[in-house]
Amino acid sequence: MGKHKTPMLDELENGPWPSFVSDIKQQADKGNQILKEAPDDLLGILELSFEDKVTHWKHGGIVGVFGYGGGIIGRYCDQPQMFPGVAHFHTVRVNQPSSKYYTTKFLRELMELWERHGSGLTNMHGSTGDIVFLGTTTDHLEPLFYDMTHELNQDLGGSGSNLRTPSCCLGKSRCQYACYDTQEVSYQMTMEYQDELHRPAFPYKFKFKFDGCPNGCVASIARSDMSVIGTWRDDIRMNQSAVKAYVGGEIAPNAGAHSGRDWGKFDIIKEVINLCPTGCMSWDGQKLEINNRECTRCMHCLNVMPQALRIGQETGASVLFGAKAPILEGAQMSTLTVPFMPMEPPFDELKELIEKVWDWWMEEGKNRERLGELIQRKSWQEFLKVTELDPDPRMVDEPRSNPYIFWREDEVEGGWTRDIEAFRKKHLR
Ligand code: SF4
Ligand code: SF4
Repeated sequence: MGKHKTPMLDELENGPWPSFVSDIKQQADKGNQILKEAPDDLLGILELSFEDKVTHWKHGGIVGVFGYGGGIIGRYCDQPQMFPGVAHFHTVRVNQPSSKYYTTKFLRELMELWERHGSGLTNMHGSTGDIVFLGTTTDHLEPLFYDMTHELNQDLGGSGSNLRTPSCCLGKSRCQYACYDTQEVSYQMTMEYQDELHRPAFPYKFKFKFDGCPNGCVASIARSDMSVIGTWRDDIRMNQSAVKAYVGGEIAPNAGAHSGRDWGKFDIIKEVINLCPTGCMSWDGQKLEINNRECTRCMHCLNVMPQALRIGQETGASVLFGAKAPILEGAQMSTLTVPFMPMEPPFDELKELIEKVWDWWMEEGKNRERLGELIQRKSWQEFLKVTELDPDPRMVDEPRSNPYIFWREDEVEGGWTRDIEAFRKKHLR
């Protein structure tokens, strides 16, 4: 039984779903964390926020550990007398391993460490991907960091205006769709850019995310300033007899994922051919054909018939820039910048591109301006100039309405320029 009355929070324990309120109460009852009062007072202050309809957390300035500029987020409450257990309640970001694979032993050690130095409460995982330790006091930060690095050989993640902890999908560890080794790139980038990760020098945050294929399990296209999405440039591999087995009902579509409900007989025309967004597939009752030049690698047909269709063999990734959530301006998706890049260690081509982009953003970006906003402000044309990439039709969203690419006069052949001039004279005032 907690020391605060929390009728509104108690409501959140009803229903069939797991409840974070029950979890916090469980930790309060367990009581083996060093900050004994923290879970109870956390519930108390949250109930008060529900009553007052305002947050009682205030921005308390910068806290951190020696030598690092990020990884800890300072959190203080504005009611320390009423809730002394959360007077300081700093959050610690812990760099997650690639694809979030752990051993049970490591998790136990991590939790033991956190109960020794904090509230014992965690968020597995934060939206950037880190393991988040929720709530400790300023005087526990250095001892926590020392033990974490020395006992567990474990580093902090990113926060503030720096490179955020890179994150990746399961990739080749489990997934047949993986077009490159997402775990390897994520690890290599984390190691290469340690300075950028721990010492904020950017105008604002910068996120890398690595999806092994366009299914996008880490949603890099919506959530990262640089999205690396696996793709292939040859043809989709087909097994025509497996296609017939799907059509004949011998293999369940979607890898049997919807088998809990009867969707009726599989209809390849309705469920695959007509849903191909580019209309590049056909089925004559015997043979499936794909016009691979028109395929946009949307993954639909491969997801429906995974035993019949496979990604091509010439694999790599597309690199896109500029996604962000709606903090200052509206949300935006990232824009295709490099349609195909081979993804082999040591990933020099990718690093070269990243560094050109950072140099420009650090030079031109305003305080708290994300890369995507800078591209919008300065134009795609300017972005292509700094990245030394040629414009490509695949960067264009909608022909004739996309404002990104303007040709300079010296880039256009004489005859074409003259035609434009003649057109201007004739039709424009
Ligand atoms: Fe597999 Fe693609 Fe998801 Fe990565 S993004 S886990 S490769 S389906
Ligand atoms: Fe069509 Fe998508 Fe399949 Fe390509 S991957 S053939 S675009 S359904």
